[in-house]
Amino acid sequence: MSSADSKKAEIELKPTVLTRGEHGISRSEISDNALKVLYRLNGAGYEAYLVGGCVRDLMMGLHPKDFDIATNATPDQVKAEFKNCRLIGRRFRLAHIVFGREIIEVATFRGHHENAPEQSPNQDKKKPEQLGKQNRDGQILRDNVFGSIQEDAERRDFTVNAMYYRVTDFTVTDFADGMSAIKNKRLDIIGDPDTRYREDPVRMLRAVRFAVKLNMTIAEESVESILRLSNLLSNIPPARLFEEVLKLFVNGCGMENYKLMQKFGLIKPLFPQLAPLLKDPQSRESQFIEQVLINTDNRINTGQRVTPAFLYAAFLWYPIEEHCEKLVAEVGLLRFEAFNIAINDVLHRQIQRIMIPKRFSSTMREIWHLQLSLPNRLGKKAYQRLEHPRFRAAYDFLLLRGQIEGGKLLELADWWTEFQEVSPEQRKAMLVKLREEEGGPPRRHRRRKPKKKPSSQ
Ligand code: ATP
Ligand code: MG
Repeated sequence: MSSADSKKAEIELKPTVLTRGEHGISRSEISDNALKVLYRLNGAGYEAYLVGGCVRDLMMGLHPKDFDIATNATPDQVKAEFKNCRLIGRRFRLAHIVFGREIIEVATFRGHHENAPEQSPNQDKKKPEQLGKQNRDGQILRDNVFGSIQEDAERRDFTVNAMYYRVTDFTVTDFADGMSAIKNKRLDIIGDPDTRYREDPVRMLRAVRFAVKLNMTIAEESVESILRLSNLLSNIPPARLFEEVLKLFVNGCGMENYKLMQKFGLIKPLFPQLAPLLKDPQSRESQFIEQVLINTDNRINTGQRVTPAFLYAAFLWYPIEEHCEKLVAEVGLLRFEAFNIAINDVLHRQIQRIMIPKRFSSTMREIWHLQLSLPNRLGKKAYQRLEHPRFRAAYDFLLLRGQIEGGKLLELADWWTEFQEVSPEQRKAMLVKLREEEGGPPRRHRRRKPKKKPSSQ
């Protein structure tokens, strides 16, 4: 048994059962669909509980953003009970019960890996697959060993996340004294911090998110572990990190999350190209990132839309600029060529850490390319830029850069602000003035355009 396993086996939680009067959760606060799933599973003879964030949030007087259920039914048994069920996940198999836009996630109780049978009785015999798997760092690569509710609680991350609500008698079973943690506003990981963060380094990001969201202090032992182990985040599959990182930056507390991530060294493994530029908190790069996060928080907290593309475009902008300058100076490329190569190189390196879906990376490219073309406004160009589907995002981006860097960039951003606001006549006047200022040749009669417009792409 490895040292990671022996530490893990030491976790032994003592459950406390809280009655309705003690926990204060009322059934009316629970999603009707979640209740339906609980009743159906109970009716079919299975144990089923609300668990995790929803129980925690309800006990803290917050509105849960989703309702998760834990049960002793296997994923296949759950699927057999619901027409609207699909099974997902390989690392962690789950059932999703779909009710229009609401999805109720149903997970089978997880067990300890040292108790794992060779192979699950439900699995395809032709393709035997290990149910639980760990790498040399102690990281869990597969987590499909099923167990009892007690084991399931021991496998959960924080003490506030190991409370189970049962609808048949309205009790909450609190396995790790989450109630006291809520009272003391203390975020504690279950078991030995080093072992638990090694098993799943994403828990370090979750620690930050919960501490900020729930206004809790992370326990000192956890802080020490995180500071020591932050680099393990670079081992997480990039596809898993996209969602987790997004949850930190688009939940309305992005700035606070970012500050805590910086403090714990969690930015570097996620954004290795950006991190060196953020060493000085007064640098324009640091100020730019902070301003982007402040604006994103404001937008979210006032009900406006945000796109991950804008955030990621901002996180990678200065690494691209820096790389581009280097290519111009050292390789002697033209700026435009260097810029394109820099975009490809920086994006390529970033997706080794966090996978960015194509639909977002293509928008990011458009925002970046428009930064190069927004200064060119003469003739019809200004009007064409306004028509570009990403003009608004690119203009917001330019404005932000202008506010941080000042000088010509701010003048350019202000010009675009005015151009959008004024009448068609005033726009024409702005363009005449611009032509004079830029000392360009006076408008000459152009040759008639060819009938067919050559495609520009
Ligand atoms: P929220 O939904 O508000 O983000 P949550 O606690 O519900 O918070 P989820 O990601 O929905 O977070 O996970 C549900 C529950 O599953 C958690 O409360 C926790 O008990 C367990 N869990 C999730 N991720 C992990 C993990 N990486 N390690 C251990 N337990 C986890
Ligand atoms: Mg949840």
